[in-house]
Amino acid sequence: MQSITLKISLIYNSMKNPFTSIIAIAFLILLSPTSQAQEKPPEIEIKLARSADEFLILPLKIYRLKAADVPDVDSRQLKDTDIQRILIKVNIVWASAGIYWKLESIENVNAENLSRLKLLGLADAPDTQKKPHLAFRDVIPESTRKDYPGYRVYYIHDFDVNGVYFGRREAMVKETAALRAVEGGIDEPLPRVTSHELGHALGLPHRQDRFNLMASGTTGTLLNTAEIAKAREFATKNPACLKYNDFQMKMALETDPSKKQASMNVMNDINSLAKKPIHPVGSSSKKPEVVSPGETK
Ligand SMILES: [Zn+2]
Repeated sequence: MQSITLKISLIYNSMKNPFTSIIAIAFLILLSPTSQAQEKPPEIEIKLARSADEFLILPLKIYRLKAADVPDVDSRQLKDTDIQRILIKVNIVWASAGIYWKLESIENVNAENLSRLKLLGLADAPDTQKKPHLAFRDVIPESTRKDYPGYRVYYIHDFDVNGVYFGRREAMVKETAALRAVEGGIDEPLPRVTSHELGHALGLPHRQDRFNLMASGTTGTLLNTAEIAKAREFATKNPACLKYNDFQMKMALETDPSKKQASMNVMNDINSLAKKPIHPVGSSSKKPEVVSPGETK
């Protein structure tokens, strides 16, 4: 019989970096002495989102690739409400880095250059067949790339990886993604895979610690201090990136009522996330509570 005891210790971050406020909680699941040697105890950090004025805002467009006669390409499972839920969780994941992905649009677009996929036998390949993901890049419509400085995520139905970052601020994620669950990991695959690919878009390589956002194929969502610094530096190099205060000033000058409202929603989201515990991102993740500016809580 194995006995399991749970030990929780609170570690307060030394606050060397004034922008980083981290409370690390190490959950040490101590198994019986016989199994302790094989099981590395998991460490799960609980992080706080940054303060609102530290946030960087990056524009993001989401596309569902449509291809009626190519079932592996044709994204058909995700409703707008699913994508909105995914983005709420993506923003909870990225709040520890003070990065907010502003969803600009959700569109269906017809996939292009499908003849090559058909020739390769990938139009409707059985799940057991390998479907090399790089072959899918050509289906991205060129029109969606034009003159857009923000980031783009394309959902397709199925290929041989959960997602891929192609460079040029474009990533592809399969709506049928599946992940290996880890302690403290996120409760559904698509926000994690989307967040992971956006991590590549911000210059982050893989780091195979299973609780980390940049680990391959797990539900981990953590970013370490070096990754946060690198992602933020990368983000600010994009001319489309706006700092919170600049975003606020731009909003004040906005005359289009719908654009103004969209910007206010972003400010409200960021203010709801600010300084709140946001890791781990679990099943309790809900839309950040909307607090109007000026309202104190
Ligand atoms: Zn990756």
